[in-house]
Amino acid sequence: MPIDDASERLAAVHDKIARAERLADRSEAATTLIAISKMHDAGAIRPLIAAGQRVFGENRVQEAAAKWPELRETTSGIALHLVGQLQSNKADEAVALFDAIHSVDRPSLVTALARAMDKAGKRPDCFVQVNIGDEAQKGGCPVPDLPVLLAEARAADLPVVGLMCVPPLDVDAAPYFALLAKLARDHGLAGLSMGMSGDYETAVTLGATQVRVGTALFGDRV
Ligand SMILES: *Cc1c(COP(=O)(O)O)cnc(C)c1O
Repeated sequence: MPIDDASERLAAVHDKIARAERLADRSEAATTLIAISKMHDAGAIRPLIAAGQRVFGENRVQEAAAKWPELRETTSGIALHLVGQLQSNKADEAVALFDAIHSVDRPSLVTALARAMDKAGKRPDCFVQVNIGDEAQKGGCPVPDLPVLLAEARAADLPVVGLMCVPPLDVDAAPYFALLAKLARDHGLAGLSMGMSGDYETAVTLGATQVRVGTALFGDRV
């Protein structure tokens, strides 16, 4: 992707975020754009870096470990977020590599991450992922289990900054975003990681503080 295209796509997404922030009477730049670069190689990522983007997301530890150390060597200020499911045996690697982890969703992972953070002396921001549509195949903590999981995460000293969700496909995401926002408010959490290429504007109007946008920035994943 030429740098001009990357700049254009980035500007278009920022415009839409800004419009949604105005619509919802939120302050400008209240939303962080995470560019989800999964399945795109360094050659596709560099133009977006050149266009000014610094916050990126990946869904697999292995893939991120293969791509990002080299990209980081040549650019300062990169923040890397893990947005995909995390196996407990990869907690050490995830803590070493990422600045934020959006997929904390079960007690065993809380334990593994707490141990990894103590060992590494590094504490990436954590989002607790909620299975907001109660879908069997999806990751995320069941809504009824959220209070207990949050209490466990806080007791283990995980820096929990917010909640994250991936709503069901092909239905209006707004009610799910609204529910996640309510759950975050109920639990005194400021962070809301919600909204992807198809619905990030809706998510911003409902209070998203982090949107995770892949396709709208990089084009289709092949
Ligand atoms: C792939 C992915 C995204 C980005 O999806 P797009 O539709 O390409 O914007 C966001 N969040 C998660 C958890 C993902 O896995």
